Amino acid sequence: SQGDGDMPLPRHCDSITFEQVCYAYPGASEQAVRSVDLQVQFGEHVAIVGPNGSGKTTLMSMLPRLLVPVSGRICVDGFDISKVDLKTLRRQVGVVTQDSFMINGTVTENISFGAGDVTADQVQEAARLAHATSFIEEMPGQWDAVIAEGGASLSGGQKQRIAIARALVRNPAILILDEATSQVDAESEVSIRDAIQDAGVDRTMLIIAHRMASVMTADRILVLDEGSVVDIGTHDELLERCEIYARLTRTQLVPATES
Ligand code: ADP
Repeated sequence: SQGDGDMPLPRHCDSITFEQVCYAYPGASEQAVRSVDLQVQFGEHVAIVGPNGSGKTTLMSMLPRLLVPVSGRICVDGFDISKVDLKTLRRQVGVVTQDSFMINGTVTENISFGAGDVTADQVQEAARLAHATSFIEEMPGQWDAVIAEGGASLSGGQKQRIAIARALVRNPAILILDEATSQVDAESEVSIRDAIQDAGVDRTMLIIAHRMASVMTADRILVLDEGSVVDIGTHDELLERCEIYARLTRTQLVPATES
């Protein structure tokens, strides 16, 4: 149930815990997420990997309460998120989806989309962290340049950086990033990697990783399979002991670009 509490959630500064979290889609015979336990410290960067359909997106969707666990609970700094005021939860969770959609509007409107009232300074700071400033300032009109819906005037890598800036504009304490799988040129690849690193400073970052660069730089990597946690550890630890992880690095994760 959406038992929405009225207690405001203070800004996250301590931990996020998943406690025996299960989720089943309505009508599904199998649970998409099965008894997941996970404890993340504030400021930690956790990459989530797993085969297609292993429950990565479902698990992450429960943190901003887009989906509600069928059992178990999620706590932020010890507060059960099902009991806090939803607005104060969502305000501090920035989400970057794989599909970095663009609206028909200016660069500023695209970055502030969905954030309500934000200042030009907030937009520019978000763009700086997302490594988007230099290409924005090269566009005719700069921050007022109009991006057509679909963003045909931007490269794939530029759209991804605008999407990262959009997630950062309210300075969220938590960043959930579903990494795009689309191929980008080598220069964009490096910029995106750097943008993800800078975006994660002073916040907790949970990243559904599709690129080697992102698992290599994560503090820990969570491996999911069929909705369950298979293992959690560093890249080197998992390469050594986790068969599924080793296979994913060979078959699914996009290799890092030399730079
Ligand atoms: P991943 O992100 O790892 O690819 P998902 O969380 O998207 O995995 O999916 C986990 C499981 O839940 C899969 O079996 C998928 O088919 C199922 N699933 C995902 N979304 C829905 C939905 N909206 N309705 C029903 N089943 C879904």
